[in-house]
Amino acid sequence: MKAAVFEGKETITIKDGFEKPKIASDEVLIKVKKVGICGTDVGSYESGGPYFPNKIIGHEFSGDIVEVGESVKKIKIGMRVTVNPQIPCFECYYCLHNLENMCKIKNFAYGTTENGAMREFINVKAERVHLLPDNVTYDEGASVEPLSVAIYAVEQSGFHLGQNAVVIGAGPIGLFVIQVLRAAGANQILVLEPVETKQKIALHLGADKAFLPKEWNKIVRYLDKLGPDHIYDCVGLSETFSTSLQMVKMGGKITLIGLHSSKFEINNIFAMALNNISVRGIYGYNQDIFTTAINLFAQKKIKVDPLITNRIKLENVPDMFKILGHPPHNELKVFVEFD
Ligand SMILES: [Zn+2]
Ligand SMILES: [Zn+2]
Repeated sequence: MKAAVFEGKETITIKDGFEKPKIASDEVLIKVKKVGICGTDVGSYESGGPYFPNKIIGHEFSGDIVEVGESVKKIKIGMRVTVNPQIPCFECYYCLHNLENMCKIKNFAYGTTENGAMREFINVKAERVHLLPDNVTYDEGASVEPLSVAIYAVEQSGFHLGQNAVVIGAGPIGLFVIQVLRAAGANQILVLEPVETKQKIALHLGADKAFLPKEWNKIVRYLDKLGPDHIYDCVGLSETFSTSLQMVKMGGKITLIGLHSSKFEINNIFAMALNNISVRGIYGYNQDIFTTAINLFAQKKIKVDPLITNRIKLENVPDMFKILGHPPHNELKVFVEFD
């Protein structure tokens, strides 16, 4: 069996000779159908971490159950599924408070610290498996993980029905945040995005207006010279954070979702105190959020088709990372497909 393996900075290789995994009594074996390439995968490719070297990548996936461990109940062979890739300890303070994304052994996950899904078969703990309703496709199933990130961000930001929001960056996560805000009853959703094709998709998926990053001032004027109640920064650079501090309404909230740089240089941090601005970081989700994501797909509230720019075979994964790891590029969501 072949698999896509993360070997270190700028090195993802297709390796052959992997055995079909054997399952423990609390595990199931999944025949993989679709795997999404995530911004986090690309980040690790660019920087060399935090993924563990020599692990198989792939944490956004869907497939069919082909084997079930002896102690597993409710999951049967033939069921269509997706998997919450986080692996919590179930014992720490955070796990006991439904905050598995903050587990003290956090970052343990399929596709990052444990072998992931970019291979024909993957074994996972049955407890991590979520069944897909009949009307949820394998494409949608493989998108439940990134949609969960967007749902958790909007929920944790304290967004209220009728508020105005700005989304910075119309990549896959930004495009999911826009759709979640629409489903959550947003008034105006405005987008800051430099690439015209991505602006168009954002408008198609429910954004009201799109602006170039240098036009942020127009947004303030457009929203009664007050600025938005919420900003969702899906880029996470010094410039976007500085812009957010200038743009957000007094007393408004900035939610940091995609964090690309480890260091921020902020020129106008004084605005944060002066204008009573709250800043919140976001990481991961929990099982309830994962279920909400599946429900939103089942209710046809969220679209994934417009986000998919590439469907590739496993063999083409290394070449795709060369493109994704050297922006700017036009790719949005890339799916690796298995027969
Ligand atoms: Zn992801
Ligand atoms: Zn824990």
